[in-house]
Amino acid sequence: MKITGITSHVLQYDLPEPLGYSQQYYSKRSAHLVRVETDAGLTGWGECFGPGSVALANKTIVERVIQPMVLGMDALDRDVIWHKVYNLLRDHGQKGMPMQALSGVDIALWDVAGKAAGLPVHKLIGGAHRSDVPVYGYGMMLRDEPVADLARRFEDEAVAIREMGFVATKMKVGFGPKPDIALAQAVRRSVGDDFPFMVDANHCYTTSDAFYVGRALEELDAYWFEEPVAPEDHDGYRELRAGLKINISGGEAEFGRWGWRQILENRGLDIAQPEVCALGGITEYLRVLALCHAHFTPVVNHVWGSAIAVAANLQLLAAMPPMPGGLHPWEPMLEFDTTDNRFRDELLTEPLDIQRQVQKNGGRVTVPTGPGLGVEPDPDIIRHYEIT
Ligand code: CA
Repeated sequence: MKITGITSHVLQYDLPEPLGYSQQYYSKRSAHLVRVETDAGLTGWGECFGPGSVALANKTIVERVIQPMVLGMDALDRDVIWHKVYNLLRDHGQKGMPMQALSGVDIALWDVAGKAAGLPVHKLIGGAHRSDVPVYGYGMMLRDEPVADLARRFEDEAVAIREMGFVATKMKVGFGPKPDIALAQAVRRSVGDDFPFMVDANHCYTTSDAFYVGRALEELDAYWFEEPVAPEDHDGYRELRAGLKINISGGEAEFGRWGWRQILENRGLDIAQPEVCALGGITEYLRVLALCHAHFTPVVNHVWGSAIAVAANLQLLAAMPPMPGGLHPWEPMLEFDTTDNRFRDELLTEPLDIQRQVQKNGGRVTVPTGPGLGVEPDPDIIRHYEIT
């Protein structure tokens, strides 16, 4: 089954209000889908991590750099294709955008393989360890307004997420240690003592500020402290993990097995958050997952983007072995964006309906069982939102 074409589709619309994280505010929502076509008439879909102009640059890498390398190759030879592309791009990007671009192509090849076999991706990997997964709702993005106003907004948003049925929630920080602690206090106050919440710094702190905030988060019994310092600061991660009781999480900005080997051997993560749409696709994710388990580091996938990314992650979460196992094992969660996102809600011909499932099923969603990723995007929606 030969690959006959690879096209890339960047979708975008204006958000109703600008949203932010510790690095920037953004006013547009975007998603980057990759479509692989074959001479057997099967098409597969994947997704690349990276918004806006990054997505447009990645589109060029997908269509003009990767496509010519793999046209005519057997679409079922995922690992051969992965290594051909990686080896040819090694001198130009072992991390970053070339890997994001390869990720979308690889995920689409897994979708093709599943459709060719008539099996969901989790069956191709080795089967479902669970048929449904708990979901945490992230929200509480930053807004460019006084922190006291934002704290009130976070209080309302956190309660709304809890009432939607999610099993936990996650907030952003990024105004500096003292205002960030005030925001976290507001969230704990509003959700009550028993509801888990996590705090995502998107690597905005120095190590000493991260210790200061981390100690306050321990007092508030926050579940994890995500990307407290820059992803390259391996020493900072190790010191924070050794010195704080709160779980340190991170890894969404790491790529490939070699980068992951380094951060795992460094012992700086309590919880690993690999991003399948960036680190090298499903093929490489499985190797990274094995490395995480070799270091006895639990994994909660980082999820960002459209319903294609959500579906790919549901497949992976189903196929994730319990680690270390038991009658009531530690369970991964699906990360789910609760902010305005039409590519999550409107993209599919048959929606995943995550929010309704969460509400009805005690915060859990069922893993799709159709062939491949188990979902199909609607071509009309893609045409409507596509930019070039
Ligand atoms: Ca994050």
